[in-house]
Amino acid sequence: MALLPASVMTTLPGELLDMRSFSDRVTRALEDVPVGRSAGLLLVEANRMSQLFRVHGQAALDRAMAELGQRVLACCGRRDLVCRVGQTKFGVFLPDLEHAGKALFAASSIAGRMADPVQIEGLRLFINPKIGVAIAPDDADNALDLIRNAAVALENVRRSGAARYLHYTGAMRESLKARLSLEDELRLAVQNGDFELHYQPKVTLPGGEVVGAEALLRWRHPERDLIPPSTFIQTAEETGLIVPIGEWALREAIRQIRAWLDAGLPPLQIAVNVSERQFRWGHLPALVDVLLQESGIPPHLLLLEITETILPEDLEGALKQIRWIADRGVALALDDFGTGYSSLSYLRELPLDSLKVDRKFVTDMETHQPTRHIVEAIVAMARAMDLKVVAEGVETTAQVDLLSRLGVEEAQGFLFSRPLSPAAFEAFITRPALP
Ligand code: C2E
Ligand code: CA
Ligand code: CA
Repeated sequence: MALLPASVMTTLPGELLDMRSFSDRVTRALEDVPVGRSAGLLLVEANRMSQLFRVHGQAALDRAMAELGQRVLACCGRRDLVCRVGQTKFGVFLPDLEHAGKALFAASSIAGRMADPVQIEGLRLFINPKIGVAIAPDDADNALDLIRNAAVALENVRRSGAARYLHYTGAMRESLKARLSLEDELRLAVQNGDFELHYQPKVTLPGGEVVGAEALLRWRHPERDLIPPSTFIQTAEETGLIVPIGEWALREAIRQIRAWLDAGLPPLQIAVNVSERQFRWGHLPALVDVLLQESGIPPHLLLLEITETILPEDLEGALKQIRWIADRGVALALDDFGTGYSSLSYLRELPLDSLKVDRKFVTDMETHQPTRHIVEAIVAMARAMDLKVVAEGVETTAQVDLLSRLGVEEAQGFLFSRPLSPAAFEAFITRPALP
């Protein structure tokens, strides 16, 4: 290891500082920031290190972090503070900057240096660094708040998927706060069962006969209006709450199918959206089995809509569950078709009944010829695989004409009906036929 100038306070490569000690050092260093100058605090996370730890243990992790620490140091000046502040993190304090941009410049060069692979245990490990940046005195004037703000920025880098470093903004903290409270409210809603299913009719083309409906989740918030899933599904996915919520939706849809059968309504197939996480963390096959038995509904009246995101993660595990459910006679549709991976080899493995063409294609089809060709290709492929094609988001009669001509068998969209409460849906399907 190269000799470090005495002024660089560093704990590399061995010692691991807790955040409190790091913050004490930053507090002291802040006192020396010249008047009128800025200081930068960077939290640098070395991604994939926890995997290295799990596979090769602490010693390998420490060696890799030491090597990465040297690279961080190489990007810093003599008076900068570099510490390892966690198993997989570095804290960097830059005490004398002309302006905030210099901290981002440092972040950029650290990210660049860390992105070179690390040779460890015969592996070439790519690190994928992520850096949160906060500036004193603009973002905070004390160590604890600086660290917290850099952590907020780091969290945003993690979520962004693309960025390698971000400078903290007040808006980041606000959105984190909003997400936190959304998460709490959502947990409460799960406990209290504050959800509803609305039903959007699915009709045949070109005839317009109602053959089923898609059950769509709504959150009945105690103070706000009915909340659509776009507001909360992502949080539900991230927190795992989608598993109990999805379970509730399945239970409720099956209860509703039973109730409509008992009320003498014509048997309609009801589609329920299923999240990929329900396959990973839930007990979907067992649940479907129990609910089918308890309710005694004909299994083909239940349709599960899955998306392509199910496929790449634990493909075999998900496929086994999907086949098991399909073997019970439950129908299966691939949702948002064309927006994801669409690997044809996965497609062949799935016991599907239908493909749902995403709304984007339906919307663009009329004005954009390549899109129309895609829809044609989807229909041709579906026909070859003996699958039904359902178009989503149909809003105009021109779209109906075009889809019918292309051979699409079923459609769903505001043109026919918006999603309806159960009572409104009943009224919709029992309304007198038009003369
Ligand atoms: P999705 O499965 O693609 O559902 C179709 C969405 O398109 C619904 O939005 C529906 O209201 C909307 N839509 C239908 N026809 C039209 C149209 O003609 N024009 C326009 N602009 N939109 C139309 P919604 O109800 O807001 O649901 C959004 C998404 O939330 C769903 O997209 C689905 O991915 C998810 N979701 C809904 N319910 C559940 C659920 O129970 N479980 C899971 N995991 N996800 C759900
Ligand atoms: Ca759907
Ligand atoms: Ca869809």
